[in-house]
Parts: sequence; C-alpha cells; structure tokens
Amino acid sequence: MTDNLIRRIVIVGGGTAGWMAAAALSKVLKNRYADIRLIESDAIGTVGVGEATIPQIQLFNQLLELDEDEFVRRTQATFKLGIQFVDWGQKGERYLHAFGGVGRDMQGIPFHHYWLKLFREGAVPNIDAYTLNCIAAEQGRFMRSVDAGNSPLSNIAYAFHFDAALYAMYLRDFSIARGVSRREGKVAQVHLSPDNGFIRSVQMDDGEEIEGDLFIDCSGFRGLLIEQALHTGYEDWSHWLPCDRAVAVPCAKVADPLPYTRSTAHTAGWQWRIPLQHRTGNGHVYCSQYMSDDEAAHILLRHLDGEPLAEPRLLRFTTGKRKRFWNRNCVALGLASGFMEPLESTSIHLVQSGIARLMSLFPDCHFDQEDIDEYNRQADVEFERIRDFLIAHYHITRRDDAPFWNACRYMSVPESLQRKMSLYQKNGRIFREQEELFNETSWLEVMHGQGLQARGYHPVVDTMPREEIVRRLDSIRQVIKASVEYMPTHAEFIARYCAATPATP
Ligand code: FAD
Repeated sequence: MTDNLIRRIVIVGGGTAGWMAAAALSKVLKNRYADIRLIESDAIGTVGVGEATIPQIQLFNQLLELDEDEFVRRTQATFKLGIQFVDWGQKGERYLHAFGGVGRDMQGIPFHHYWLKLFREGAVPNIDAYTLNCIAAEQGRFMRSVDAGNSPLSNIAYAFHFDAALYAMYLRDFSIARGVSRREGKVAQVHLSPDNGFIRSVQMDDGEEIEGDLFIDCSGFRGLLIEQALHTGYEDWSHWLPCDRAVAVPCAKVADPLPYTRSTAHTAGWQWRIPLQHRTGNGHVYCSQYMSDDEAAHILLRHLDGEPLAEPRLLRFTTGKRKRFWNRNCVALGLASGFMEPLESTSIHLVQSGIARLMSLFPDCHFDQEDIDEYNRQADVEFERIRDFLIAHYHITRRDDAPFWNACRYMSVPESLQRKMSLYQKNGRIFREQEELFNETSWLEVMHGQGLQARGYHPVVDTMPREEIVRRLDSIRQVIKASVEYMPTHAEFIARYCAATPATP
C-alpha cells in the first residue's frame, strides 16, 4: 500500500536542539510511524552552553514523562525561581524578574494597579514584597507546589538550571531507548531534488548517502541545511540587540546554589551566573563595537565566585532569525533557526515551542504550503515578541556611564515595544499580545525594575477605600512572608529529593 506519510525523518545535529527534537518525536510518534535518524559530529561538537530555562520546560518534561527528580540528578540541575538583574536600570540597583504571579487581582483589576496607587505615595514597599518567588529567592528557599488551597504555596512557578552537556546526553539515552538511530560523522554535502529543490539526502564524509522525507536542521549557527543548502536568508536584529559575542567559563562552586540566575550589567553587556549542583556556569555577553575580546574575558574572570575550571571560550553570533524557519521539507530548530541572547533564557524554550508547532502542523509528503506558512507566521510572532522584551532591558535604563548604554538608551525601538512602554507609563496598563511568551507580570517586573515609572493607574482602583487597599496589600504581604518561612532552603530541598552524585574532578 502506498501513502503519503512521512516515513524518514533526518535530524542533523546532536546539540540540545537535535536531541530535544529526537526525544519528542520518538515519544510522540512512538517509532511505529517513522524512522528517525540523528546525525552528529564529535569532531565539530556542540555549542555547549545554554543552561538556564523557563518554567515552560516542565511541559516538555511532562510530554516525555520524565521523572523530575531523576532529571535533576542526571543533569546536576538546580531550581530557578527567576532572574536577578544587577546594575541594569542604574548602577547599584537590582531587581528580580520572578516566575509566577504578583499579589492577587481585585474587582477584576490586576493587582499592580492597587499597588501602584500606594507605591507612588511611598506608602508601601516595592513589588517584590508581594511576590512569593522574590521573597523565596532572596532567602535562598525553594520547594515545589503543595496542595494548600488558596495559599501561594499551591502554585510555585519554577524552572531549572542544568549542565547542557549532561542534558543532551540524558535526552540521547532517552531517544535511543525509543528507537532513534544515531549516526556519528560529518555531513559533507546536501543533495537537492532538481525538480522542486527539496532536500533529497545528505552525504556523509565517508560517502554514505542518507535520504529522508523530512529534514530537521539542528546544526547550530552554521544552518547547514536551512542556509547553506537552501539559502533561506537571515533577518538581522543587531541594530536593536547589538551584543554579538560571548565568552563563557565554568567555575568552582563556593557556596550552596541559589535558586535564581544572576545577570549583572557591565559597561558593554552583561554577565550571567548559573548555579549548578557541581559547578557554576558563567559567561559575559558583550558588544564587540564597544569592547575587545580580551577585556571581556578579563571582566568575566574578575567577577567569578570561584576558580575557573577551564579556559574561557569565545562565541560569536548575530542576533536575528531565519527569514523562514520552515523551508520546503526542512525545519530549522535551535541556533540554526536564529538566535537571541540568553538574557531571559529563551532559546531552549524556542526549540521546545518549535517542536510543538511542528507536531501540530505535522506534514505528509505533500508539504502543503498553507501549513508551512502558518508555522512560519506563528514562529515569527513568537520571536518578535521575545525580541521586544529583550530590547526593553537595554533601552529602559538610566545608565549613562558608558557609550554602550547611551546608545541603547537613545536607540529607536520597534513600534510594538514603544506602544507597550507608553501604555504602561500613562496608566500602568499592560497587555499580553498574540499569545506572547512573557505575560503581564513579566513585563511589569522588568519595566518597573528597569526604572520605567507609571504615572497613573486603573481608575476603578479609586472605588475601593484607601484603608481597604492598605489592609488587603498588607494581608497579601503577610501571607507571602509566612509562606516563605515554611519553605526549606534550596540546598535542603535538593539534598532531600534530588542530589546528584558528586562529580569527579
Ligand atoms: P549546537 O549545540 O551548536 O549543536 C549543533 C550540532 O550540529 C552538533 O551536534 C554538531 O556536531 C552538529 N553538526 C554541525 N555541523 C555538522 C556537520 N557538518 N555534520 C554533522 N553534524 C554537524 N539557551 C537557553 O535556553 N538558556 C541559556 O541560558 C542559554 N545560554 C546561551 C549562552 C550563549 C553564549 C549561547 C551562544 C547560547 C545560549 N543558549 C541558551 C542557547 C542554547 O545554547 C542553544 O539554544 C542550544 O544549545 C541549542 O543549540 P543547538 O543544538 O541548536 O546547536
């Protein structure tokens, strides 16, 4: 019997993106449907960074039916309640972009409008005091949600920090156990069908030719299939996000891991600190127009918590995205599809959402253009909304101590972002647009944290007596304080449930 089903899926690349795709496809398609092959080259290796995630990764883990404690142990992971931004709005300032909600909405009006009214008067503390994750992060505490009725402990949002190499290995074992076949070696050539320009096969450097129906390009920045073979084109966003290099180095752990990522702004970029169970990941993202590689590495090494465990590694990138993520019979995922700096840990999420989108628009061998166009449209929206969120971090700053920050402050931003900032500045209004990844709370925390001030608030707030607002805000604050006191420390939680075997030095 002949049919049009996709029978041969070829994934090129065995980094985080490739193995995430292999794991998800082998789980969902259960290998009865299609033969899945993954090609990776030990000689080329992977980018090897990418260690902080956002809470949506739990959906991916659920799809794979992973045991979370085992996943944490196998990847030397820690838990993440948010990202602390240091020296971003102004030197000496810090704020947390925390996962989860803020306060409690009242009369159908978002909580922050009530808080804004009193905060402007100087009558209440900063927004952190009404955010469970902020207070817990500050105190180094963590636990998973428990069934506690209305308590904020019933709904604790968290993500993970993990070792990228261990994560890829973990997913590789998962995929191979579900029938994915792995081919080690270099792809030397890509063959296109002369009639329609679709990819027909890839040829390995030992001459073997691997044919496929659907090709997934996870080959990293080089975009072996989507760009080098199909010449899809790239939309460059570096005029809005000018950082174009990173230097990364792991260092020794010197204290119990904190349950959040730290991002510290420097004079031409920023430095990440990602605490794992066995070590700490660090990197300095910077703009080469304003800083040399040597200076960037020097700054990175000067700001490590512990001894460096390797030589600093330099990575170059151009922020932007492919003009089409899906072109003919090739879908690009991960770095092959585009790149936005890891300021909000979105890249692994974009791999995950690309896989989900591919599953919902999964083609047959006809490759209907309508499906392909819809995939690209949805991915464009997702990328652009994240782009705006990242630009906001750079643009909303009062730093004037370095030419880089002056350029960011004065640059013109996309109209979509300008609108968002104006709405907030006027009356504190924030709307989540077109299913964008970051919700109202994220935008609030970042715009406020960076120093953008709302001049007004929702007028319905004034229908509640002031003393009543004070009473309610105080009660929320007390509940959060008491809830956090109930939480164990992050280190205690890990030791109790998911401590990894100590790594051999
Ligand atoms: P790669 O890891 O580069 O893998 C490419 C694969 O293709 C490799 O297996 C390679 O061997 C193979 N390959 C290439 N060419 C060939 C060939 N010719 N033949 C055979 N095989 C080939 N994301 C986050 O979500 N959180 C973060 O905190 C974060 N931090 C980051 C920091 C930096 C500085 C950078 C650059 C990225 C960061 N990312 C982060 C992004 C994240 O690292 C990537 O999204 C993720 O690792 C996926 O990479 P990849 O699999 O697409 O590419």
